[in-house]
Amino acid sequence: MFFLCHFFLSVKKKTRTAECYFRDGVFTSPPSSSSPHTGCRHSSPRRTPACPPSAMRLPALLITFTLLLLLTSTPPGSGHPAPASEQRGPVFVQQLSRPGVGFSWRNVSCPLCKAVFTILDIALLSDTNEERVAQAVGEACIRLHLADEQVCREIISLFRDDFIRALQQSLLWPSEACALLVGPSCGKFDIYAPWNITLPKAPKPPVTPPSPPKPGSPQNRVLFLTDIHWDQEYLAGSTADCKAPLCCRKDSGSPSWRRREAGYWGTYSKCDLPLRTVENLLENVAAAGPWDWVYWTGDIPAHNVWSQTRKQQLSELSVISRLIHKHLGPNVTVYPAIGNHESTPVNSFPPPFVHGNRSSAWLYNTMAEEWSPWLSEQALKTLRYGGFYTMAIQPGLRVVSLNMNFCARENFWLMVNSTDPANQLQWLVHTLQASEDKGEKVHIIGHIPPGLCLGSWSWNYYHIINRYESTITGQFFGHTHLDEFQMFYDEVTMKRPLGVAFIAPSVTTYINLNPGYRVYYVDGNYQGSSRMVLDHETYILNLTEANHKPEAPSTPEQNPKWTLLYRATKAYGLTSLFPSNCDGLMQTFVKDDQAFQKFWYFRHKGHVSEPCKETCKTSLLCFLRSGRYEELEQCDLLNGFGGNLARAARKTLC
Ligand SMILES: [Zn+2]
Ligand SMILES: [Zn+2]
Repeated sequence: MFFLCHFFLSVKKKTRTAECYFRDGVFTSPPSSSSPHTGCRHSSPRRTPACPPSAMRLPALLITFTLLLLLTSTPPGSGHPAPASEQRGPVFVQQLSRPGVGFSWRNVSCPLCKAVFTILDIALLSDTNEERVAQAVGEACIRLHLADEQVCREIISLFRDDFIRALQQSLLWPSEACALLVGPSCGKFDIYAPWNITLPKAPKPPVTPPSPPKPGSPQNRVLFLTDIHWDQEYLAGSTADCKAPLCCRKDSGSPSWRRREAGYWGTYSKCDLPLRTVENLLENVAAAGPWDWVYWTGDIPAHNVWSQTRKQQLSELSVISRLIHKHLGPNVTVYPAIGNHESTPVNSFPPPFVHGNRSSAWLYNTMAEEWSPWLSEQALKTLRYGGFYTMAIQPGLRVVSLNMNFCARENFWLMVNSTDPANQLQWLVHTLQASEDKGEKVHIIGHIPPGLCLGSWSWNYYHIINRYESTITGQFFGHTHLDEFQMFYDEVTMKRPLGVAFIAPSVTTYINLNPGYRVYYVDGNYQGSSRMVLDHETYILNLTEANHKPEAPSTPEQNPKWTLLYRATKAYGLTSLFPSNCDGLMQTFVKDDQAFQKFWYFRHKGHVSEPCKETCKTSLLCFLRSGRYEELEQCDLLNGFGGNLARAARKTLC
């Protein structure tokens, strides 16, 4: 998803430079209202079209603007018990509010706004107008130099159908568009609206803090793979520094004398991995077994998101699933989770209310086929429905694999309805209650860390972690490509640490990283086991060594070594990795800069260029503390970052 982030952040950058000309007109996004809502609201049939072509220029421009605005806007955050923070509006809106012209969306009356969007709504019912919108957005992309011309054209044609459909069903409904533009008094915008899951009446059991297991207690060794990002078109010797969002590829061109070239095993640049590196990793982890089980949290395809097809996505899913199965053997169960890159367009995960060819059936059905050696019939059933499932791993331990694309702001289908998509969180609550009743422990795996989710989803998830803190004994995510974690505290005082979401580093090098993988040591299968993470290790392939033999620097190693980068307890002097240990570690980072810089080095899998000081350090500590998106925003405000931190954290989504 990096490309899109980069793409739209570039829009911000370009427009921000223009801000000095437009001093007036600060637009405030609507704070979320306090009343939760439910259900899909757009059931009424679309009206009949067609304005004459001459009337279409304004709609096309406005839709172009709306589309860009939507994708460059700042999320107003959660409207849950804590008050929503004041937000600055989308840069595009600020830019439009130029005093010289005397125009501001704030000056538009609610009825006028609704009238404009009603016209738009009708206009978009015609295919010709869809074409115009796509063309206009493509032109904007090219003229603003957001990407090169070919990338602009390809990405617009890839996104256009699904995106315009979602727009038609959501934003372009006058009440939502006007809520975003004029203010909350003029309507509601679904993607930021608050909602609440229902918890069962069963009271929360008393909490007993976990204690370290007795020496010699059994442990489980769990392999964790995430963000493989295999690039079928990776080409050693091609240029590693190109203009496109992804380099080291056949069409990246040949390196000139000043440019670096793609290495044999991978490259420190905006490049993904050749298949040989993925296979080499799998050979190495197979030899480093046995593994009690494997968690694999998604993002299989490369970052060439402007030119992906369903057929390619499915073939990559099959190739990698089969390779993992082949190398690890039939006796190891792999529990996969769905990443945001599995679909095309990237991030496009229509919830189950979308049927037919636009639904995710093409993807989930193939996943169910490929993953059937590992998953139960019941698990395959919910996987086909919404991309999530649960399975018992051992007596006393269960895994829940969440489809975190239903929490992601980038999933534009949530513009239509973002209320607990696919009822996934409500299903999670039922699953957890059943486990609590049985005295079973639960691990949650997923792709996008919950602290980076839409405000309301994140708030509800945090609430669930609080209620079931004695049942949920591990949370495992990926997606940021970096080695980090996020803390969960009790909701009342926000002081007692009660959970940690471990975020493991990627297999891919994207961007400037060594390839890597993670191993978790979990309290084992015995009576009274906490089933919590006791330790973890990170292994890397040092690319400088792998791509250059010492005796012949232009020749790569044939059998490169995957080496231990660090073991957490040893590196940080901890006894365990319980939530209290991780919280203590954060305090250490504040006081002991050497320990923090060590974390910074590990966070980038041993390949960093600069130390992280001052603002960088403060914002990273904020990130670690914020298992909930709201905390990140508040941290932001407390430190006077004016919203930049939360935005930057979402940038790490890429
Ligand atoms: Zn990824
Ligand atoms: Zn991802």
